Amino acid sequence: MNKKTQSPGGKEVETPTSTLEQPTQNIRIWECVEKECIAWVREEFVTEAVPACPLCKSAMVRSERLVPLAKKKVNRTFLLGRRR
Ligand SMILES: [Zn+2]
Repeated sequence: MNKKTQSPGGKEVETPTSTLEQPTQNIRIWECVEKECIAWVREEFVTEAVPACPLCKSAMVRSERLVPLAKKKVNRTFLLGRRR
């Protein structure tokens, strides 16, 4: 017999990647001045005073960017809603 076995874990699992109220934070970044370049680096990862773009070697400027809050670092004080 050549029975095809189906793995029990073969079902598709949908993970909710985005929720309506996803906490975000504004972080300081350096971004490439080139309009067509999408490179940007977190300011905390930059050690140079004036970094160069890792992709196109252009100059970079300080900016801000809204990013989703890291899940493992959820700040409890952020949750202000009270349950009754
Ligand atoms: Zn660039």
